[in-house]
Amino acid sequence: MNRKEFLKLSMLIGAGITFQGSKLLFLQDDKKYTFKELRNGIGIYVNRGGTIGWLVNKDAVVVIDSQFPFTVKDFLNELHKLTDRKIDILFNTHHHRDHTSGNPYLSKFTKSIVATENCVRLQKTRNTGTDLDKNKVYANKTFEKSWSETIGKENLFAYHLVPAHTGGDAVFHFINSNVVHMGDLVFNRVYPWVNKEDEASLRGWITFLDDAINHFDNDTLFIYGHSFSPEKVYGNKDDLKFMRNYIEALLTTVRKLKASGKTDEEILKLDSVPGFENMKALWEGALKANVKAALIELNE
Ligand SMILES: [Zn+2]
Repeated sequence: MNRKEFLKLSMLIGAGITFQGSKLLFLQDDKKYTFKELRNGIGIYVNRGGTIGWLVNKDAVVVIDSQFPFTVKDFLNELHKLTDRKIDILFNTHHHRDHTSGNPYLSKFTKSIVATENCVRLQKTRNTGTDLDKNKVYANKTFEKSWSETIGKENLFAYHLVPAHTGGDAVFHFINSNVVHMGDLVFNRVYPWVNKEDEASLRGWITFLDDAINHFDNDTLFIYGHSFSPEKVYGNKDDLKFMRNYIEALLTTVRKLKASGKTDEEILKLDSVPGFENMKALWEGALKANVKAALIELNE
C-alpha cells in the first residue's frame, strides 16, 4: 500500500486504525445493524465486518465469527433477547480481524471457541500492531481438516480443504437445518479481499468452491462473509458458482493479458473483468488488489 492509498484508507476508517480488509468492513451507509432469523433458529447479524451467523434454540447457542469489539455488543444484546444460555460454541471461519476481534468480548459468555489450526496460527502472526490485537483471544479447540459435534438436535460439521481466501478458511455446516456459513469464501457480487500474505490462493479458492458446489444441495441456505447489502449476505448455490466463475475469469483475463505482452503496470489498470462488469467494489482499489494477487500467483 502506498502512502496515498494508506491515507485514503485511514480517512475511511476514521479512527486512524488500520486492520486487514478494513475498507471492506463497512456497509455502504450508516444503517443500523441487521439481526434476523433465516431458518430453524439460525440467523445472521450484519453490521461492520464479516457476517455473524447464529443458532439459538432451547438446547444450543452457536455463534460463527465475532466481528469487532464495538459491533459485537449489539449482537450479544440481541442474542440475549432470545436466550439466557451461554454460547456453547463460538466458531471462527478464519483469522481476519473483522471475524475474530470480537472474541475477547464474546469469550466471557462462551464455553468454547473452535477454529482451524491455521486460523489460530495466522491470527497470531498476521494480526499484530493495532489496538485490536492487544487482547487477542484464540480458539481453545482447533482442528486441521474437519470437526464435528452434536449439540441439542443439531449436528454441526466444519471443514478446511485448501488455502483459498486465507490459509485457514473453514466452512461451517448446520447439517440438520442445511444451513452453511461460507466465511469469506463468498464475497457476494463484490470484489473479494485477496492478500497473498494471508496465504490466499486463487486456484485453491476455485477448488474449495467447486467442492462446496458438489457437496451441498439445492435446499442448502448459504451465509456469506460480505456483500453490498444485508439481503445479499445469504443465498443459494448460484452465488457460489458466480464467485467461483469470477475468480476463474480473473485468472484467465490476467493470464491472457500477460501472454499478449502487457506489462504488470498495464495489467493493473484493468477496469473490469470481462463478464463481470457489474461486480461492485466495497472499497477503492478492490479490483486492483485482485489483479495483483492474480499476477503474483501466475508468476509462482
Ligand atoms: Zn476475510
